[in-house]
Amino acid sequence: MHVFSMGVSKLCFLSSLAFCAFLLLLIPALQPLQHQGDLPQPRAHNKHAQAGMGVGKTQWRPGGLVVPLQAGAGKVSPWGNDNGGGSSGQATPGGTERTGNEDQKYKAAHGVTWGTDKDTLSETGLGGESLHRGGGTAADGWSRSRDPLERKDIFIAVKTTRKYHKSRLDLLFQTWVSKAKEQTFIFTDGEDPELKKRAGDNVINTNCSAAHTRQALCCKMSVEYDKFIESQRKWFCHVDDDNYVIVPSLLDLLSLYHHTQDVYLGRPSLDHPIEAAERVKSDGSVSVKFWFATGGAGFCISRGLALKMSPWASLGNFISTAEKIRLPDDCTIGYIIEALLEVKLTHVHLFHSHLENLQRLPTDTVLEQVTLSYGGFENRRNVVSVGGAFSLVEDPSRFKTVHCLLYPETDWCPRTSHH
Ligand code: UDP
Ligand code: MN
Repeated sequence: MHVFSMGVSKLCFLSSLAFCAFLLLLIPALQPLQHQGDLPQPRAHNKHAQAGMGVGKTQWRPGGLVVPLQAGAGKVSPWGNDNGGGSSGQATPGGTERTGNEDQKYKAAHGVTWGTDKDTLSETGLGGESLHRGGGTAADGWSRSRDPLERKDIFIAVKTTRKYHKSRLDLLFQTWVSKAKEQTFIFTDGEDPELKKRAGDNVINTNCSAAHTRQALCCKMSVEYDKFIESQRKWFCHVDDDNYVIVPSLLDLLSLYHHTQDVYLGRPSLDHPIEAAERVKSDGSVSVKFWFATGGAGFCISRGLALKMSPWASLGNFISTAEKIRLPDDCTIGYIIEALLEVKLTHVHLFHSHLENLQRLPTDTVLEQVTLSYGGFENRRNVVSVGGAFSLVEDPSRFKTVHCLLYPETDWCPRTSHH
């Protein structure tokens, strides 16, 4: 009897021990689910971020209305997967593990590739199947604690030069800049009272040389950087004066990330990393390889990352960094981020320069891109193929046509071609 009751309490003791052990084992398995909100993943799209964007459209756009996929839930890895971006704190759109088909569809839909994923570096067909999940998915909870990204959070720097104020800037003011006056800052090299009247304090005379030299261009980038830091805004985006920025798409893209993450978004012009002699961390006897986003297509940097660039980028340091590696401004940005800070460029194929064949961009995806460009009027015209409001003679860059497709209510857009 006594022996028997001893056996029962022993059994009880042992089984409660086993139960405790089981509970302990469960803790790590449950952890990723509890901390999802803190992961450096792309943010869930927030519908409110769309409000007041001025585009009278609700259609799906690859840059937006997309939530991170829930495929592979339960296998959530906090610091990303093999697609690169292993360093801590780095933005990894692959943060939620996706496999096979889902991964391809996600990438195709975003025009986003990571690391050195070569096969996706070719032009992306953006006709990918819609991944939009209607409101109320689990992903909505991820961003609940975060404020939606607003237009005023973005700082768009436009690099220009005195001689292009009329021929290039006028077109930008007539088109996309008119929709983003408060977020666009013009960096030029000469006084222009007319431009000043038009854009006020958003025109910055860098006092840099007006030459198209590495030094002059780096001087401008250096001022752009300093002004951004001073602005307290969340995102720095640089574009050239021959870029059209589709602001709603830009907002959608940036909404996938958080400004406190290390985020460097843009499009490489090369299909391989560039190599340079390392003269910042060593004496130049070794070389470094790194990716950079081509400046002519535009690129964006989160505030969190921009702040980390400060030792090599702020207050004239950018110019000396560029001098050390003897490369242009956009390469120097890539060098600081990839080689010095070891943060990876997120390859985004929604940015476009005239270095690529712009005709190859499918017509039905043009309005979904983040930036467009134009070039080569002299010999072979390199512009996006969109039809509509204006002929090639009336609108050689196609920017007016794009603008009227995006904002048909604009007073100078023909009324008839749209409903
Ligand atoms: N640019 C400049 N100073 C110059 C020439 C050009 O700041 O002396 C700017 C120009 O306004 C543009 C960028 O540099 O924003 C690239 O110039 P462009 O498109 O003429 O040349 P690309 O390098 O694209 O062929
Ligand atoms: Mn150009």
